[in-house]
Amino acid sequence: MTQKIARFLADEAPATPCLVVDLDLVAANFRKLRTALPEAAIYYAVKANPAPAILERLVELGSAFDTASVNEIDMVLAAGGRADQISFGNTIKKMSCIRAAYERGVRLFAFDSEQELEKIAVAAPGSRVFCRILTSGKGADWPLSRKFGCAPAMAEALLRRCRDLGLEAFGISFHVGSQQREPKQWDEAIRTAAAMFRALDADGIELKMLNLGGGFPTRYRRNVPKLCAIGAAIRRSLRKHFGNRIPDLIAEPGRQMVGNAGVIHTEVVLISQKSADDPRRWVYLDIGKFGGLAETEGEAIQYPIRSHRRGKTGRVVLAGPTCDSADVLYEKANYRLPVDLSIGDRLEIRAAGAYTSTYASVAFNGFEPMRCYCI
Ligand SMILES: *Cc1c(COP(=O)(O)O)cnc(C)c1O
Repeated sequence: MTQKIARFLADEAPATPCLVVDLDLVAANFRKLRTALPEAAIYYAVKANPAPAILERLVELGSAFDTASVNEIDMVLAAGGRADQISFGNTIKKMSCIRAAYERGVRLFAFDSEQELEKIAVAAPGSRVFCRILTSGKGADWPLSRKFGCAPAMAEALLRRCRDLGLEAFGISFHVGSQQREPKQWDEAIRTAAAMFRALDADGIELKMLNLGGGFPTRYRRNVPKLCAIGAAIRRSLRKHFGNRIPDLIAEPGRQMVGNAGVIHTEVVLISQKSADDPRRWVYLDIGKFGGLAETEGEAIQYPIRSHRRGKTGRVVLAGPTCDSADVLYEKANYRLPVDLSIGDRLEIRAAGAYTSTYASVAFNGFEPMRCYCI
């Protein structure tokens, strides 16, 4: 919570729920990552928060962008980004979307299957492509599972096909899982990629780029390793596995760039108990899983939640306002709020700048999606 956000909330008293993002913190996060990984080109993962003001600030700072759809590409272009600063990083694209991206000048595409590679060959001829490999997702609070990436042997075989398909085999990417808390998790993927670089090089296919993905954590309730420690671990792994032939590097931060820059302002709608002998209070907020807090699924992401009241606290279950029983935020995680918390109180949900505003449903139960203010 920055003074700037506190002043905005006090002066403007915006309707709740809303997200307020401090753009100066986004800029600070950008600089921190650049310091931690000076050799890597930063491609902000737009899906984390595509607010135009955030994209504009990042364009000013010299960021490039990882996009998942044509709409995201158009948002980057509208913010002043250039097509040659855009990667179409989604491995699941319609042919028509690949073509639309190509027409806008995008020449860098991700794939993780033969069928996707063939689509790119037809719709974006001559482009640079990189193959995403599977990772375990261990150590991550929001792992990305087996949905993305393919086995290294398959990736190698596909990269060998690029020349015949009229594409440039440009590199390899991976993602160690979002909110990754263990710096060592990058090592295994870097080792695997280095072996692939060597094997392909022996056959005259010279890859140029390694995409380190995202996963850089932001601080929620628990401490996370410092970004410079993660950067140092990655650089050690690169030297160990690539020696003096380290390729061009790309990093795709999402959460790290905007997570701690945003605060959600929410109102307590109801406080109740389920029986006379169960002291736990149920606290219902005007935001829930369908209003933007989708990452509370499985209580995986645990936002710090603050009240302005300072007294004694007691255990609570936190839930959203919709008529869906899945709309419970935290039941097992030990959340405590002041015992004198009252209906109508405002609460701050901190570190909520990433993966919130765009996860809000359009009108489930008639609730409008929350507003995002960038200041
Ligand atoms: C979502 C995503 C990212 C960003 O991940 P974070 O964990 O938020 O840093 C980066 N790259 C790709 C391909 C993604 O899909």
